[in-house]
Amino acid sequence: MNSISSCDLHIHSCYSDGAMTPAAIVRTAADAGLAALSITDHDTAAGQAEAIEAGKALGVEIVTGIEFSVKEEELDIHILGYCVGLADTRLSAVLEDLERGRAARAEKIAAKFHDLGLPVTFEEIMADAGAGTVGRPHVARVLMRKGIVAEFQEAFDRFLGYGAACYVPKKVLPLEDVISVVKGSGGVTVWAHPGANIRKKKLRDRIFGSGVDGVEVWHPNHTEEISRLAVREADRRGLVCTGGSDYHFDEAKKAAIGEIQVPYDSVTALRSRASGLSA
Ligand SMILES: [Zn+2]
Ligand SMILES: [Zn+2]
Repeated sequence: MNSISSCDLHIHSCYSDGAMTPAAIVRTAADAGLAALSITDHDTAAGQAEAIEAGKALGVEIVTGIEFSVKEEELDIHILGYCVGLADTRLSAVLEDLERGRAARAEKIAAKFHDLGLPVTFEEIMADAGAGTVGRPHVARVLMRKGIVAEFQEAFDRFLGYGAACYVPKKVLPLEDVISVVKGSGGVTVWAHPGANIRKKKLRDRIFGSGVDGVEVWHPNHTEEISRLAVREADRRGLVCTGGSDYHFDEAKKAAIGEIQVPYDSVTALRSRASGLSA
C-alpha cells in the first residue's frame, strides 16, 4: 500500500476534544501525502465546512464524519457516522441536544470536584473546550494545567474514568437512533475501535445485527489479532473496513495523523454504501 492512496478516517479537531483546527489537520494530511481524511468529532459537525473548504484548496478529499457514543451491555461503545448530510435538520437537532447534555455533564463533574475541595470550575472546563463540544479530555487538561495531575491518563485513572471519584455518565442515544439519524441524513455507520469487545459474540451480533455498515479495523488501540478478527467479521457479514489514527492532541497521542495506514478502498466502499450501491 503506498502512501498516496492512503487515508485517515478518524481524527478529532478543536470542535470536539482535539487541539488542531480542521484547516490545520487538512494541511498536515496533505503534507503526509494522504488522499482523503475524515474529521470525526464527538457529537458535532461544526468542523466539517472548514475541513471541506481546506480540502478543496489543498487537494485532499473530505469524507464527512461524526463520532457518537452508545451504551451496550454497560460498555461505552462508539459509532462513527460517515458521509453524513450536513444540511439534514433531524441530524442537527440531535447534535444540538447532545451538546446540551454534554454541558450539563461538565457542570456535574465540576460539582464533584468542588465537593472534593479541588479548584476545578465549570467555567474553566468550558473555557478549555472553547468552540468544541465539552468532554472529559477538557477537564483532564484543566487538571494538568493546575498541577492536580501530572499526566493526561492520570486524570482519567484518578478522577474521570468509570467508577472514579468524579465520574459522571454521559447521556447517549440508543444505538438504533444513531443508526437511523445517520442513515436518514444519507450517511453510513461504522463500529469504532471495537478492540477486545469484538470477541464478545452477543455484543458483536447485537451491533452488527443493528444495521451498521462497517467496522473500524485499523486503529492504534488494536493489536494485529484484533484487526484480523475485525476483518474476518467484516468479510463474513459484507461490511466495510475502515480505520484511522484517532488523533486528538500530542499529550494523548497514540498515532500521528496518517500514521495508521488505511487503504483508499475504504473511502470508495463507504461512498458506494452511502449512495445505496453495494460495497
Ligand atoms: Zn472513540
Ligand atoms: Zn475518536
